[in-house]
Amino acid sequence: MKNIAVIGAGTMGNGIAHVFAQNGFSVHLIDVSAPQLEKAVSTIAANMDRQIAKSQLTTEEKEAALARITTFTSIANGTAGIDLAVEAATELTSLKLDIFRELDQHAPENAILASNTSSISITKIASVTKRPEKVIGMHFMNPVPVMKLVEVINGYATSSDVTNSILALSEKLGKIPALANDYPGFVANRILMPMINEAIHTLHESVATVESIDTIMKLGMAHPMGPLQLADFIGLDVCLSILNVLHNGFGQPKYAPSPLLVNMVTAGKLGIKSGEGFYEYTKGSKELKVSKYFLR
Ligand code: NAD
Repeated sequence: MKNIAVIGAGTMGNGIAHVFAQNGFSVHLIDVSAPQLEKAVSTIAANMDRQIAKSQLTTEEKEAALARITTFTSIANGTAGIDLAVEAATELTSLKLDIFRELDQHAPENAILASNTSSISITKIASVTKRPEKVIGMHFMNPVPVMKLVEVINGYATSSDVTNSILALSEKLGKIPALANDYPGFVANRILMPMINEAIHTLHESVATVESIDTIMKLGMAHPMGPLQLADFIGLDVCLSILNVLHNGFGQPKYAPSPLLVNMVTAGKLGIKSGEGFYEYTKGSKELKVSKYFLR
């Protein structure tokens, strides 16, 4: 595999494009939003500068990697000659189904179509294509250039050749893949999201403050981040979408999203990406300030 299309240039798409380009692949980065594409390329450059400062990359390698990224605003234009598409667009089932219909129509017949979805059924995504055996989950973790894991998800029809190619490719990217089957939330989010949701319930029931909950989980369980800070980092809208998939998929009340999470997303408080969630974020500042909403 040489030519990769990455669909969606948000938080995950820019990280996925970064890692492929850094490892010598030619990347077609596709988003419906041209400003988002511009932002993604400057984020990649800034993240590469950070790697240079840590002596993980040279300036020449950065320039070569950036030169391997081309941006497109449509799938029809961005998928010619690709070997693999990795879809990392918004976590909405209908949107992903539309994207895969389009990918199936425009990508070369032998190209593998992967999704970075956190929770949406790979089998369902595959079912709208004429190549379900070539559809697979390639679930990178955030931030992609830093996190080692790729959760590889086999859909019902995924062929073992395709699985083996994606496992080998993940290793080529310097990642460690782990296999899962296609059930709601796969492994990572089936276990992580109920924990985050429970932390939000705990806050909503005033059992403890934002800071206490995060401190207890961080120091008590040796987690690098507390669950509320992690939710802000992932994006509260993404957390809500995943919980809805778990709730609908298993039909069990234990997965029902906390009403507080629903309210926050409705109010546009999405975490880091909107500047406020459980904490407030000021560009350029690393200070973690609890949102004024939770100090009332
Ligand atoms: P995001 O909101 O940051 O970015 C989504 C991007 O998709 C936006 O740039 C948007 O313009 C683009 N988009 C929307 N419709 C499109 C279309 N039709 N064609 C092309 N681009 C389109 O979202 P994100 O956090 O990067 O999440 C992307 C995917 O990765 C989701 O499936 C999510 O579940 C998954 N994921 C997210 C995380 C995380 O921590 N945020 C971690 C692992 C996986």
